[in-house]
Amino acid sequence: MSESVKYLLGEEGIPRHWYNIAADLPSPPPAVLHPGTGQPIGPDDLAPLFPMALIGQEVSTEREIEIPEPVREVYRQWRPSPLYRARRLEQKLGTPAKIYYKYEGVSPTGSHKPNTAVPQAFYNKEAGVKRLSTETGAGQWGSSLAMAGQIFGLEVLVYMVKVSFQQKPYRKALMETFGARCVASPSEETAAGRAILEKTPDSLGSLGIAISEAVEVAAQNDDTKYALGSVLNHVLLHQTVIGQEAMVQLDMAGDYPDVIVGCTGGGSNFAGIAFPFIGEKLRGGKDVRIVAVEPAACPSLTRGKYAYDFGDTAKTTPLVKMHTLGSSFVPPGFHAGGLRYHGMAPMVSHLADLELLEARAYKQTECFAAGVEFARAETIVPAPEATHAVKGAIDEALRCKEEGVGRTILFNLCGHGHFDMQAYSDYFAGKLVDASYDESELAMALAGLPSVAA
Ligand SMILES: *Cc1c(COP(=O)(O)O)cnc(C)c1O
Repeated sequence: MSESVKYLLGEEGIPRHWYNIAADLPSPPPAVLHPGTGQPIGPDDLAPLFPMALIGQEVSTEREIEIPEPVREVYRQWRPSPLYRARRLEQKLGTPAKIYYKYEGVSPTGSHKPNTAVPQAFYNKEAGVKRLSTETGAGQWGSSLAMAGQIFGLEVLVYMVKVSFQQKPYRKALMETFGARCVASPSEETAAGRAILEKTPDSLGSLGIAISEAVEVAAQNDDTKYALGSVLNHVLLHQTVIGQEAMVQLDMAGDYPDVIVGCTGGGSNFAGIAFPFIGEKLRGGKDVRIVAVEPAACPSLTRGKYAYDFGDTAKTTPLVKMHTLGSSFVPPGFHAGGLRYHGMAPMVSHLADLELLEARAYKQTECFAAGVEFARAETIVPAPEATHAVKGAIDEALRCKEEGVGRTILFNLCGHGHFDMQAYSDYFAGKLVDASYDESELAMALAGLPSVAA
């Protein structure tokens, strides 16, 4: 291991700190605004929803934030996660490229989500919180927070997007196994849920709606705080253990990536693998191309507007500037439930605006085809979300073949698909369609963006 990367890890090979990209940006991201006053919000505005430790991380510009020992102790169960070279896939593709992937499916719930669920539960427990409310799409976040709540002794209440609740019943069982309560969203339990059901009784739900329900519960109960599985700065921060480990592991292999690929729902696993490398580049290190892959049916980076918007459908959150399809946009019910969010993390959006990354959108059937090709070569079944990163990496490798150039490609395999096998069955039965959103609905959602003085 070379001296330049050695400082990143402690003795057990686990990072000592999270990496905060805010410290290295050429310009800060736009302010978060209060929806009532239009003025920048302060820490106190967020206090009903989050403990101060997390609010501090949300606005921090310190480069390194120490990981508390109780969190590292939990991380130790599955971290460092393995970095693999996809040799059999390289051979199958006949590419001169080297393909590496960081595998986050080794966590207890099978994805990168526990990397932030564990510290979020830890800081809430420290602050005396009794219960956490949250949303979940495909259920990876809900089950990860349920697990973390169980470890630190917190109750967990999860609003699960209805289409996924129906598609993935075993995720609910997993949440219940870890002691959480899981409710299909929109539900009758909250004003936000009831309002949607009144207008659209057969609503499939969306992450935006489920967030409204979870935020409402936290705002109305003193013993309850809200936890978000993506999008926010502190969530992206916690995921940087992925990229820091990858940097050290690649160094041990004597390599450095030319291209990094990640899938983007709210942007957290992508940030986790990419931000430490983007930081190196911003501090004068090696250049690296960064590719964000999103679903064509929910294309916030490639088709959305970079504008101030609400994070939820009921318009209760602060206004953040992000790539958005409009907070009222309800994406079609495709299988990569974790990628069905109308917005993109403000920090990822800011980096896109600074042209520090490129974005690409793929249809779900071409992603499943890539996922199956990957599984047959590498013997790991990717989560539907992760197939987007696989597809992006395969396309990069095929481009290397065309150009006759051997580049080093790194992608994040953010989760396994063991709870998503119905989606694979549907794919093999030819039942998966490339649902596209309604253009007029998108136009309407974008027209409804809040007006914010420049
Ligand atoms: C939640 C989830 C995603 C999407 O969220 P990001 O914040 O964009 O990472 C992607 N893949 C998996 C496996 C997930 O669980």
